[in-house]
Amino acid sequence: MRAIFASQQDGKTSVSLQEISKDQLPAAEVLVHIAYSSLNYKDGLAITGKPGVIRKFPMIPGIDFAGTVEESSSSEFQPGDPVVLTGAGASETLWGGYAEYARWNAENLLKLPASISLKQSMAIGTAGFTAMQSVIALERHGLQPGGREVLVTGAAGGVGSVAVAILGKLGYKVAASTGRPELAEYLRGLGASEIVDRAALTVPSKAGLEKERWGGVIDSVGGTTLAGILPAMANGASVASCGLAGGAAFSATVLPFILRGVNLLGINSVRVAPTDRHEIWARLSTDLPLALLDSMTQVAPLGQVFDWGEKILAGQVRGRVVIDVNS
Ligand code: NDP
Repeated sequence: MRAIFASQQDGKTSVSLQEISKDQLPAAEVLVHIAYSSLNYKDGLAITGKPGVIRKFPMIPGIDFAGTVEESSSSEFQPGDPVVLTGAGASETLWGGYAEYARWNAENLLKLPASISLKQSMAIGTAGFTAMQSVIALERHGLQPGGREVLVTGAAGGVGSVAVAILGKLGYKVAASTGRPELAEYLRGLGASEIVDRAALTVPSKAGLEKERWGGVIDSVGGTTLAGILPAMANGASVASCGLAGGAAFSATVLPFILRGVNLLGINSVRVAPTDRHEIWARLSTDLPLALLDSMTQVAPLGQVFDWGEKILAGQVRGRVVIDVNS
């Protein structure tokens, strides 16, 4: 089978497209014939040999895949079932989706909701899963349509684009923050009612609190952006902190927390209980308009994943990229 293969020798990582035997796949309950994988920021790091994602070599990167069950020793899956996997340690300690086949235990696989195709499930991928997970986290902390604007940072990226589309469908007033003003129409088409220049969010607050503005935030950027957002949070509002495209470290005061009851909610899409995974996919099947998903998605062949990895790290990818592992 064709696979992207990452190996390490003397501390140096090399990643290339190779032919390997299916027999090399690790033992597990379900053999999946992969149709599509996807491109996420973490995939960009792994595929370009950067540290921080792959924790065990050799490795097949690709944190997501969707395909059809070919063999199964688990009663939960039968040959022919369409299945999807996001996160769950793929490309970290377990072989992932940049290959024609994968072997995984049943507990991490999910039967695809009937309304979502294999390709659409990878247009969603970890990025879309995280966007939905973030919306649910905000709802659990009181977010409802009809209130103040909800801000999405890194809006033209994968997590951001899906988040804008979901929030727009749910009836929220969505403010989309981007560093690419040329994508304003694209973001309005997904459901944004306002475009915010991302540079405006990184200005530090001298007072520690600013006028209340945001009723909720999905932040895929982190760093100085997150620090700039907190002082303008409305009373009792929450930030779902899911990314670090702009940096990991941030410096802030506790004033928004202790004077406005602001909540900072951490989002981890990798370690998610099976019941929560089912809920997130069920919500995606009802709350993400598939026509908008299709409009934000492009498909690339497996061999081009190296170029796309460089592009996503440079913040140059719009929306989502599906990887066709069979072409
Ligand atoms: P993308 O590259 O598709 O999107 C990131 C977006 O962030 C870019 O499109 C750009 O948006 C903005 N951005 C990029 N660089 C900078 C910068 N230096 N300063 C400010 N903004 C910047 O990546 P994904 O959507 O796949 O992932 C986004 C982040 O979320 C990543 O950090 C990723 O690791 C994280 N993530 C975390 C998950 C979790 O489980 N917590 C799961 C999935 C992703 P624009 O051009 O609109 O400004």
